[in-house]
Formats: sequence, C-alpha cells, structure tokens
Amino acid sequence: EQLANQIAAGEVVERPASVVKELVENAVDAGATTIDLTIEEGGLNLIRVIDNGAGIEPDEIETAFQRHATSKLLSSADLFRIASLGFRGEALPSIAAVSRVTCISSPTKDGLGKQLVIEGGTVQQSGPVSAPQGTEMSVRDLFYNTPARLKYMKSIQTELGHISDYVNRIALAHPGIAFSLKHNGNELLRTPGTGDRLQVIAAVYGTSTAKAMLPVEGETPDYVLTGYVSKPELTRANRNAITVIVNGRYIRSFLVNQALLQGYHTLLPINRFPLVTLEIAMHPSLLDVNVHPSKMEVRFSKETELRELIEQSVKKTLGRDRY
Ligand code: ADP
Ligand code: MG
Repeated sequence: EQLANQIAAGEVVERPASVVKELVENAVDAGATTIDLTIEEGGLNLIRVIDNGAGIEPDEIETAFQRHATSKLLSSADLFRIASLGFRGEALPSIAAVSRVTCISSPTKDGLGKQLVIEGGTVQQSGPVSAPQGTEMSVRDLFYNTPARLKYMKSIQTELGHISDYVNRIALAHPGIAFSLKHNGNELLRTPGTGDRLQVIAAVYGTSTAKAMLPVEGETPDYVLTGYVSKPELTRANRNAITVIVNGRYIRSFLVNQALLQGYHTLLPINRFPLVTLEIAMHPSLLDVNVHPSKMEVRFSKETELRELIEQSVKKTLGRDRY
C-alpha cells in the first residue's frame, strides 16, 4: 500500500507545481470563493492552500488520504461526463506519501474542525482543533523521503515559475474566486474575485495590458465562447500568454491555438503570438479529458465546428476593432 502510494505519487506529483494544482483544484471543487496560497522556497519547503469551501467531515478526513477511497469514477461512461476537476481520488494519498502534510478542515461555521498530520503516508496525529469553515492543507518537505525525485528539482525560481504560471491560469479560469499567492513573504498575485475576467487579466498581466484586450464571444449549438484577445499590436514571442479554459479547466490544445492564430490571419508579425484568455463551454459529453493523467490535454468532438467558431469569433472581434 505504501509502495503503491509512492508509485502513484510519481505519476501525480512530478514537482511542487503538481501539488499546488491538485490542492487548488480540490479547493475549487469544494466551492471555495477565496483561495490563499503560501509558498516557501519554490514549494519545496512549504505549500499551503487555505480555502473557505465546503470542508471535509471529521470522520472522512482520513479516508480522503486513502488511495482510490474517494474516486468519483463509477463507470467508464462517467469518464465522458466529468464535471468536477478531481475524479481519481489519487492526489491526496500521493502527496502525503512523499511529504509531511497537515490538514485542518471544518465543514461547519461552529469553529470546530479536525486536524490530521501525515508524514510519508503514515498518520502521526489526529484530533479536534478550532478552525473556520473550509480547509487548510500544508505540505512540507516535499520529496524528503524520495531523494532521487528531489534531485530532479530545478532551481527555486524555476519551480516557482511553474507554480506561478499555474496559479495565474486557474485564477483566469475562475474570475469569481479571489486568489492570492505569496512566495517567501512576497505577494505575487491577488485577484478580486468579482467575476470580472478583465480584472484578473489586469492582476496577472498589468492594467495597461488589460486595456489593450478586446472581448471575444460567439456560439454554435454545441459551443459557447467568451473571453479576451489582445489587439494585434500587443504580441508576445511565445504562446505562454494564451490561456484556454474548457468547462472551468485550464487545458492545452493545439487545435484551439491554431484556430486562434487563424483568426488573426495576417495581422500578426511572423513568430509573434497574441495574449488570449478564452473560455469554451460545452456539454461534458463533447469532451474527453481522460487523454493524459495530468488532465491538461483534451479531445473535442466536432472539431471543425469548434475551429470555425474560434476563428470567426476572433476575426469578428478584430474586424470590429479596425473599422
Ligand atoms: P479527488 O479530488 O480526485 O476526489 P483527492 O485525493 O484530490 O481526490 O481528494 C480526495 C477527497 O478529499 C475529495 O474527493 C474531497 O472529498 C476531499 N477534499 C480534498 N480537498 C478538499 C478541500 N480543499 N475541501 C473539501 N474537500 C476536500
Ligand atoms: Mg483532487
């Protein structure tokens, strides 16, 4: 069991940013409206995520750290109807197998919660504690018991870069959630949680960038597009400022990127890329998210319909800007 957890951990927990991703997705799934992250030393010393979501029932906290105990997958048909971000029930046990975790959670507003301390997958301490409604997960000393994995970690700046990039994108994906991110005491991001995506763009990229963004929208019977694309004058040397969100999930899609660039057609200089935050909503049955364990790659049904929708919507937005 311990070994199985460590093996699973290798798949789920590649680096500090993977831990951040799993913890933040759980907080989003729990319906949190504020998510505060505290990171120390690129996440290798500490990753703390505090949310005000639904919390975990005291008698379910230990189960949440057991492998597959909470998998929401009931049948293969469910793979095509995944609404929540988490669905494998592997993240917490995998994280706990390779770090020291303290989980404090309360499902109620009565000020009473439960604390669980797990080190290397073994429960060290468990008992009642005073706590606000929500969950506080602290992950310390990541990979302390898997030195081979620890050796693969890059510099603190590199690991922080991955974390910061992920938090920026999940904040863009959820403008209704107030996110904050601190690293070694410095605040790197704070979003207001008002639901206005342009305010998140301003928090991530700066207010002058936000002013150079144009709203894009469009729909077909199967897909609804909303978001912002930059004026052709505002470009980047790479695709990193393109954020694509599908049903609340930040994803990577060659198809979507291609369609976006097609929308700009001849307006972009060669080897330059726009800033884009694009949300695509669709019925979950039109989406296969189970292509890769990281859940970052997806496959769309009706690819042509989607490609044309994106291209035409972007053209419409840019055309409106020109004339
Ligand atoms: P999954 O998200 O795939 O269900 P995880 O291992 O990530 O599996 O989490 C296990 C379970 O623990 C979740 O299904 C959820 O019930 C509970 N849980 C974890 N984090 C939180 C949180 N921040 N708030 C509320 N419940 C949580
Ligand atoms: Mg999860």
